[in-house]
Amino acid sequence: MSEIPDRINLAHLPTPLEPLPRLSEALNGPELWVKRDDMTGLAFGGNKTRKLEFLTADALSHNARTLITRGAAQSNHCRQTAAAARRCGLDCTLVLSGEPPQDVNGNLLLDNLLGATIVWTHGRDPDTVLRDTFNRLKDEGAEPCLIPYGGSNAIGACAYAFAIQELINQGEPFDRIVFASSSGGTQAGMAAGARLFGCSSEILGISVEPDSASLQQTVAGLASEVSALLGDPASFPPDSIHVNDSFLGRGYGVLSSLEPEAIRLFAQHEGLLLDPVYTGRAAGGLLALIRSGLIGKDERVLFWHTGGTPGLFAYATELLSKS
Ligand SMILES: *Cc1c(COP(=O)(O)O)cnc(C)c1O
Repeated sequence: MSEIPDRINLAHLPTPLEPLPRLSEALNGPELWVKRDDMTGLAFGGNKTRKLEFLTADALSHNARTLITRGAAQSNHCRQTAAAARRCGLDCTLVLSGEPPQDVNGNLLLDNLLGATIVWTHGRDPDTVLRDTFNRLKDEGAEPCLIPYGGSNAIGACAYAFAIQELINQGEPFDRIVFASSSGGTQAGMAAGARLFGCSSEILGISVEPDSASLQQTVAGLASEVSALLGDPASFPPDSIHVNDSFLGRGYGVLSSLEPEAIRLFAQHEGLLLDPVYTGRAAGGLLALIRSGLIGKDERVLFWHTGGTPGLFAYATELLSKS
């Protein structure tokens, strides 16, 4: 049925699937569970590790010697790309937006320890800096391979089709799967995997960055590409993709009280740590949807933890002052 693209082993799979009974009780339903992709295991883990199993295999098949990608200063994707490069004996160059901060901590500290070369954009257009840096590395003979933003092309996203297969094999059915969605690869892979492997859960991305219309369009396009890549061509219209963009607040990485409250609730009922930028926002959205009745008390809901926890340490001040 499905054709499996080349893959190298980077992640600890299957990730645990755990019930959240104290949190479910505190909320008076629904029945909540968590899928622990914060435990994929590569340099503190996260969802990008699954994608990088395919992206790195593809880079190696093209004889790359250096991985290059871009992101925010606290990018989880960049940190996991730097670690994946090392596991394959490759170098890594990261184009990070903005100016180098005074305090090197969280993901940026890990990038440094992993020996990634960091190029700051200093306010220039990140894609221009990325292209210029790529060309320079190529001229220098470093054999660069571009890893797409968020690891979100069809090759990276197909990892989440197989993650849905992994979930199905764990034998717990859910009415809904809720998680943080941003560059769209995670959601696209899930949508394609749900069709390919037969999973009827509603796949609900809580947007962390773009508005619903743009994210639906990105996810639908990528999901169609993933299904073609896996030998099950299907066309996903944007309105078949479920996205909620009610929790964007003041933008990417800007905390309100939503994220710290959700982080404390999960931590104090379950000993489970979320991150400030992605899973904290998605969990805050989930709580709001439960409290407003849009997610029913009698449902079984899976919160898919996508990682990001090193970011907690870079947001200490905001976490303490906003809750
Ligand atoms: C990148 C990231 C996401 C979003 O995944 P996409 O595939 O980019 O939509 C969610 N959570 C965390 C922790 C991430 O690092």
